[in-house]
Amino acid sequence: MDLIPSFSVDHSRLLPGVYISRTDVLNGSKITTYDIRMKKPNIEPCVDVAAMHTLEHIIATYLRNNAQWKDSIIYWGPMGCLTGFYLIIKDQQPCETIGKLMIDAFEFAANFKDKVPGTDAVNCGNYLMHNIHYARYEAAKFVEILKTSPCYEYPKAERLDTEKGKFFDS
Ligand SMILES: [Zn+2]
Repeated sequence: MDLIPSFSVDHSRLLPGVYISRTDVLNGSKITTYDIRMKKPNIEPCVDVAAMHTLEHIIATYLRNNAQWKDSIIYWGPMGCLTGFYLIIKDQQPCETIGKLMIDAFEFAANFKDKVPGTDAVNCGNYLMHNIHYARYEAAKFVEILKTSPCYEYPKAERLDTEKGKFFDS
């Protein structure tokens, strides 16, 4: 089986930032998946799972209510490794533009004071698994990174061509 493209990224050199994970064409229209990376994989502790869940709820709410962006947003959700999120939008924008949107979104989360949206048994699959305190803390940390030292280009793993097929060295 081929290695899927997101595993071909050299995660050992990956820094927090905003990256284009993949581009797809669906019925003639381009859609873009962004890697919104909050943590250095396997070096920094990942985001607390309950905080990640809370950030998912708050930022999804922000994106789907943002007048400029709501019609472009297809999907927002956490990575299983808990080091970042995937954002899927219609068409494509430069990573710098998405970075600015993420600053606004994570600032919204960092300052969020109300009840976390959708946190009851009717609207959420695990409504007790939330942590607004850690979510605010992680959001503020990520805003700082996005404002000062964001990365926009993936470090690529070197591809090895061998008799048995193509492999990536990560
Ligand atoms: Zn939920």
